[in-house]
Amino acid sequence: MRAKSEEVLPAAALASERHTSGIVSMAAPEDAVATVRPKLSLWVENVTVSFDGFKALDDITLEIEKGELRCIIGPNGAGKTTLMDVITGRTRPTSGCVYLESRAHEITALPEWRIAQMGVGRKFQRPTVFQGHTVAENLELALAGNKGVFRTLFRRTRAEDREQIDEALETVGLAEQKGRRAGLLSHGHKQWLEIGMLLVQRPKVLLVDEPVAGMNQQEMEKTAELLRSLAGQRTVIVVEHDMDFIRSIARKVTVLHEGRVLSEGSMDRVQADRQVMEVYLGT
Ligand code: ADP
Ligand code: MG
Repeated sequence: MRAKSEEVLPAAALASERHTSGIVSMAAPEDAVATVRPKLSLWVENVTVSFDGFKALDDITLEIEKGELRCIIGPNGAGKTTLMDVITGRTRPTSGCVYLESRAHEITALPEWRIAQMGVGRKFQRPTVFQGHTVAENLELALAGNKGVFRTLFRRTRAEDREQIDEALETVGLAEQKGRRAGLLSHGHKQWLEIGMLLVQRPKVLLVDEPVAGMNQQEMEKTAELLRSLAGQRTVIVVEHDMDFIRSIARKVTVLHEGRVLSEGSMDRVQADRQVMEVYLGT
């Protein structure tokens, strides 16, 4: 039966399918079919980054599903920031690949702006809001910056923009502060504003680097809640070394150490891992 159904597919069709899926190996057609992973959002495959022979990332492989909220932890120097740099195109891996959504979208060789345009948004550790502008203006600027020439092309109306901005204000809990100058916001509110500025750009994957550094307990709790609410509709990757915060998020955790994946799984599982305990308690 199986042989018969395969006969129906002309060799040319299989070849072209393999071509469009970006697989340039000599894999058999069955292998090509097996690599169709519709639920995958981000796929980092055997990535190594060498700085003058020193491996900041050493053969890292990560599979992150659509809508997942993934926490990446690890001690200083583990390679967390380098990993974010590779995903966003800031650093080119020495070897390995990064795929967005499918094998058809290999983003490793693309420039940073193009990866951003494809839907990978990144929030850096230090908030970079426009201090002299109001909260709402900051969101408008983020929206305008993203659309550029496409604005006229899609004939978006001011009303649509407003709706998108209001939605972001609501999501990050800054609706009441929208007329306030960003420079006057608390540190926590600035962080949320910056997340809002990424949200209006409608990212598929949101990378958040140490979101709770410098936050008080209450702000940390609200941030955990916000990040959980953002997942589902988009993929969220949080880099953080505050264990309590990671526990409060309570999702799948990847532990990096010396450029490698040391452990992966639930917080309970990872915390019970002897190697993780050694790395965290032994230093
Ligand atoms: P983390 O964010 O987990 O603290 P990083 O990704 O910043 O770790 O760094 C991983 C390792 O790579 C560190 O040992 C760091 O010193 C090194 N490193 C990072 N960037 C560079 C660079 N541009 N040149 C040389 N070494 C680097
Ligand atoms: Mg770092």
